[in-house]
Formats: sequence, C-alpha cells, structure tokens
Amino acid sequence: MERREYKNVICNLKDTKKVISKGLNFFYCGKRDSNKELKGEKMKKNRQRVVYIDKEHLKKYNIIDQVFYYEDLELSVESREAYKNFEKQFIESYSISADVYNINEFSFYMKDSYQCNAFAIQKRGYNIIGITNVYPILLSKKFNSKYFEKFIFMGLMNKENIGLAYIDLINKEKFNLSKFMLDCSIKFTFGHEFRHILQFNSAEIRKESYYLQENLMENAFDIQKHTWEFDADRSGCYAVLKFVFRTDTELNKRSPDKFKCLLYAGCASMIITKCLFYFGVMHQEEHKMTVKKIDFYTKKYSHPHPLVRCANILDYYFSNIEDDFPNLDIEYQEFFNNVFGILKIYFDSLMGSNNIINEIFNDFKKYNGEVTAYNNELYDLAIQDEAIRNLLISSNTSFED
Ligand SMILES: [Zn+2]
Repeated sequence: MERREYKNVICNLKDTKKVISKGLNFFYCGKRDSNKELKGEKMKKNRQRVVYIDKEHLKKYNIIDQVFYYEDLELSVESREAYKNFEKQFIESYSISADVYNINEFSFYMKDSYQCNAFAIQKRGYNIIGITNVYPILLSKKFNSKYFEKFIFMGLMNKENIGLAYIDLINKEKFNLSKFMLDCSIKFTFGHEFRHILQFNSAEIRKESYYLQENLMENAFDIQKHTWEFDADRSGCYAVLKFVFRTDTELNKRSPDKFKCLLYAGCASMIITKCLFYFGVMHQEEHKMTVKKIDFYTKKYSHPHPLVRCANILDYYFSNIEDDFPNLDIEYQEFFNNVFGILKIYFDSLMGSNNIINEIFNDFKKYNGEVTAYNNELYDLAIQDEAIRNLLISSNTSFED
C-alpha cells in the first residue's frame, strides 16, 4: 500500500515531545513513574499561562448563542454523567493543548441543537471548540458496554500471545473497553477540532471569522476545506495514539502484546465513529436500525467521504506506530485484521443481522484506487496549503515535498 506521510505532527512540538519521548525511552524498561506527575506539573503551569473564557462571557458579548445548560435540568444519571464527562474531557484536553501551542485564551461550550455535531470557531479573537448537546448522549449510547461484551472472542480468535493479551486485559486488568473506546472517540474529535483552531491561527492573512463544523453539508464543496479536514483527521489520529500510549503506561502489568491490543482498539474506535455516520445509524435507535449509506464521491460536499477519511486514519495511525514504536514490529496485515475484528464484533452486536462488516470490506475494495488517489492529492494540497505548511514547519515536522 502506497503511503504519503508527514510525520509526528504533534510529537515534534516542544512540551508534548518531552512527554512522548520520555515514555518511549522507557518503553520496555518496566518502571513507569512520571507520566502522572508530568501531567500534574503541566496542569499547574496551565493555570498561570492560559486563560479559560467561559460560556457566560461569550454569551454576554454575543459571540455565541443557543448555549445548552445541563446543570439545572432534570436528567437521568446517565445523561448527566455523559454531559459532565464530555465537558471535563474537552476542557482538560483544551487546557493542555492550548498551553503547548501558545493559544492564550480558549473556550468550550455545548450548543443546544437537535443535531449531533462538533465544531471549531474563531470569532473576534476567541478560539472556541464546541459540541452539541446531542453528541455526548448519542456517542455514549453507541459505545455502550453491551456492544463489547463479546470482545473476549478476539482473544479466542487470535492465536498465540496476542490472544492471551486480549484475555489478560479483560480478566486480569479488568480493563473497561467500552469506556476506553468512547474516550478514544472523544480524543479524536478534540484533536480534530483543536487542529482547526491551529489552522485558523496559522494562516498569514486571516479571515475575520472562521467556522468549521463536522456534519456533512451537501452544497459546500471547497477543496481547501477538504484539505484542512484531511490534516485535522491526522491530528485527531495522533491524539488517539498519545492517549493509547498513556493508557498503556497505566496498566498494572504491561506487555508489548497488551499494548498492541490497545492500539488496535484505539484505531477501531475512530473507524467505528466514522462508520456510524457512513451507514447513517448514529441517530437511530438500536431496535430499528436501517442502513443508509452515503454514495461514494471525491470532490463534493463539505467533507471528504467517510471511506477516504477512514483510509487516511488507518494509514497515518499505522505509519506512526511503525515510526514511534519500532520495537513492536507491528505488521500491517495483523493490524488490519485486528481492527476489523473489533469492528465486526461491534457492528454484529449493534446491528444484529445486518452484515455491516462485509459492506465495509467490499466498499474498501471497490473504491480502493480512488480513495488512495484522492488521499494522495489531499496530501499534496496539504503540504502546499499555507496554514498547514506553517504548522508543519513551526513544529519541525518532516514531510515529503
Ligand atoms: Zn473538521
């Protein structure tokens, strides 16, 4: 498979590099003490350096409207927890990233809407990331633990060590897979939206305001937007990779095979999220799900086609694993089989008799040539795009010109 890469978009930046390379240097040495401390250290620093602008301020100055407040509503425990969890994760991640990338003021809010959406805004100098109130609820429901109950089968399906590692994760580590998958999906969305914030800030001639949202708009094709989405997906992907690595360091007893299992599950989480939209089942109730696929396209609509985006994610994720963790000796076929194994367990369990996984396979096969060609084209456009190029250069990221 041909791969066009620019590498380690986030890894090369100063503070993050310290965290990542510290982990890598110690990777197979057993003692892993400092990640939590490092994080605590950074949080302390954040309080001094970056300022959180809250939704009340933004509302008062008419920067945003339709603000959603869950605090005063009568809600089920699950819904309240979902809102709290998403809010906390977005604000924490934003605080850390804003500090690393010198975004001095940052904002997050939930918007009252019937649509499931995430977005990034720059308006009158404010850098805002948002999600709609539907997003935490739908996503939490779709990553319910009941869809991952059969995960242990991955262990039985896999021969030798990797199979045992799956079983160990579930039985000995008491690993909460569905929570991990949900967290990976959140990390991806945050990483994606944050990259849009960086793109807004790195164009030399800036527009007065920017607004990029994640729902597919049919009448809004713009090749630059496709390019920015391609680049933002890569950042989201790398955010997941960092999270997977951190999760691995927190296991009681680490092993390369357990780490591989986490890497596969992290990637599967991103592909599942994209496929929920591709098959039009994100909004549907589980007992009456029908598949309504988005026809394949390249230069159309606001975002690249989900298959194009999935291929970009798979490729970029895998090549970063190869680069950052050479000792793992990970093979593409094994990676692919495991990611799709998890997808199969998930969609079989979610959709019952619908054979979604075959659809995904067949579509990947059918459009493979077009998908690869379009991703290569987006890569070339990305490294020529002024905002992205500035980001790559300022972060010392190597890329094939
Ligand atoms: Zn986007």
